[in-house]
Amino acid sequence: MEKEIKPHYQNLIIGFGKGGKTLAAWLAARGETVAMVEKSEKMYGGACINIACIPTKSLIKNAEKQIPYQKAFTIKNDLTSTLRKINFRALEQLPFATVISGEASFVSENEVQVKLGAIGDIVKIHADRIFINTGSRPYLPPIDGLRASARIFTSTALLEQSALEKDIAIIGGGFIGLEFADMYAKFGAKVTIFESGDTFLSKEDCDVAELIYEILTAKGIHILTGVSVEKVEDINDKKVKLRYKNKANDCKSLEVTAILVATGRMPNTAGLNLTAAGIKTGERGFIMVDDELKTSVPNIWAIGDCNGGPQFTFISLDDFRLIRDQLSGGSYTSVKQRRQFASSVFTTPQLAHIGIREKEAKERGYDYKVAKLPITSIPRAKINGETQGFLKAVVDLKTNKILGCTLICNDANEMINTVQVAMNAEQDYQIIRDAVFTHPSMTEAFNDLYALV
Ligand SMILES: Cc1cc2nc3c(=O)[nH]c(=O)nc-3n(C[C@H](O)[C@H](O)[C@H](O)COP(=O)(O)OP(=O)(O)OC[C@H]3O[C@@H](n4cnc5c(N)ncnc54)[C@H](O)[C@@H]3O)c2cc1C
Repeated sequence: MEKEIKPHYQNLIIGFGKGGKTLAAWLAARGETVAMVEKSEKMYGGACINIACIPTKSLIKNAEKQIPYQKAFTIKNDLTSTLRKINFRALEQLPFATVISGEASFVSENEVQVKLGAIGDIVKIHADRIFINTGSRPYLPPIDGLRASARIFTSTALLEQSALEKDIAIIGGGFIGLEFADMYAKFGAKVTIFESGDTFLSKEDCDVAELIYEILTAKGIHILTGVSVEKVEDINDKKVKLRYKNKANDCKSLEVTAILVATGRMPNTAGLNLTAAGIKTGERGFIMVDDELKTSVPNIWAIGDCNGGPQFTFISLDDFRLIRDQLSGGSYTSVKQRRQFASSVFTTPQLAHIGIREKEAKERGYDYKVAKLPITSIPRAKINGETQGFLKAVVDLKTNKILGCTLICNDANEMINTVQVAMNAEQDYQIIRDAVFTHPSMTEAFNDLYALV
């Protein structure tokens, strides 16, 4: 049962994303009134819980455990629906917070109108401060026939399929494309990746990209690079054909049962009527913000994916921290103060990275040393029977500081946080080399890795 909607709140948050919901709870706990407007009841808690991080990692984990897709799908749905309810209740039970189900758009810089749920009634709400946290959605490239095809899926749509697509093409070899490729292969599907870039994982060092390529292709994943998908045509209601040009510019085609489009994400800003408030947008509709995440209008901030920053749940959360400190006189107020953060790709094994890579250290003229340790030398990995990969560290020999670290192994996404803490504490690499870690653990391998510097 939702609470009564009032005409005025001190704070109005548009979108139930990570930063917005954390901010809402924090403001309400301080005794300020907060309205949280979320357009879909299926999105309480935001993208992470419902259509992104959590459902994908649940499916990935269960694929690793060789649980059949349909069972994994049910487990994933049970998990997301539980989290959705917890997220709704966590806010709604706060006396100063109100969750409003409806789609918000600006009327002026202090007023928003909300089209309520299925009924479509309009309510207008004034607020002293407004925070836009509307997230992003998949970008569909202008490929002939793509939008018209019934066999095209975004990551959101694919996560809703109760049956496994058995022969899938993935357009885009970025993080999302690779996670789905690896997950689908683990569930037993045939997977082909279409990457327009000439090299696979072009940002990574060659040894990293090569090993991930080997790992994926060994699972039967077919990776095409330097290809351009020209046309998509449905053959029938179960089959679709991709026409593409390969590196040599030859015309080729492939028939599959489904296509996942993983070619980047666009901000959810089109329906917000931002001009009514005078809020400026930039490239592809992302909201322009200053270093304090303030929009071109002083009482309006933009949080998370919609402000054009790095698209991660933990960045949306960190956006909250910046605003929290601005509103409470704290010292962490500008994105310029943001420290190093890591990224992870949840393939099996995972790829995690922080800082700069070997090739960047070389380009920038550092006096550096690279240390590399195979996963086969780690006792914990042997116990787990998960010995693929390596740990790679780049260290500045002049300062002894860690410049970067790349890990290919299971639990890489956990391990990289240890390196992050050392880097952000501006510790020398010896702090990890000589740290007394638990045994047998994956983390203790850092003793050996950094001893190689
Ligand atoms: C498949 C996939 C996997 C990912 N995996 C990871 C991962 O492992 N780790 C990680 O850190 N990040 C991951 N990400 C990225 C991460 O999910 C996003 O960066 C993050 O969820 C963005 O959160 P946000 O706070 O910007 O808003 P969101 O969580 O996107 O929330 C925005 C909310 O606003 C609502 N909304 C939109 N317009 C309106 C409107 N007009 N009125 C009212 N409500 C509105 C939406 O319904 C939505 O609920 C993944 C993304 C995808 C797609």
